[in-house]
Amino acid sequence: MGDGALSGWERSSTARVIAPARPRKLAKVPFVELADGRLQGVVSSGSDISRVYVSSVTVGAFAYACSTNNNRPCGGTSSSYCNHIRALIDQAVLQYGAERVARYLKCDLGDTEADAFSLTQAMVGTHPMPGDSNAAATVFSRFLRHLAYLEFDATTAPLPEMQWFPPTRAVA
Ligand SMILES: [Zn+2]
Repeated sequence: MGDGALSGWERSSTARVIAPARPRKLAKVPFVELADGRLQGVVSSGSDISRVYVSSVTVGAFAYACSTNNNRPCGGTSSSYCNHIRALIDQAVLQYGAERVARYLKCDLGDTEADAFSLTQAMVGTHPMPGDSNAAATVFSRFLRHLAYLEFDATTAPLPEMQWFPPTRAVA
């Protein structure tokens, strides 16, 4: 542990890389983020390695969407969260910690201890509606961009795209 795919990247970057709260299975859910008012990410198909699902849950309303990278609707979302969305929630909890995911999604767990199960139950319990699946294309392109960065060889040379981020030692 700690010597995985990101270690070269960590060494060559001046930005602090935040380690996941707990190790995740990247093969199952290669991309997960809390962004754009959604928990969103990419989930591998259990049966077909060339197919992935783009899944998301919105902040507050917990509206859900799941479709393939070719924009075909997921068959599992007819009434509630499909297995991809459940896997996404599981992995988000490993990546960010349950409390942070619950806070981001504005999911009130009351006195229940926050974990992937209680979070999923609480959201499903509000009978969320299907959401807008138009976000899938955006999420998928963010995922591809994310992959592109992982494919760079470890280097200390500046990446032009990263100049948008401020230097760590800002002039006071
Ligand atoms: Zn699905």
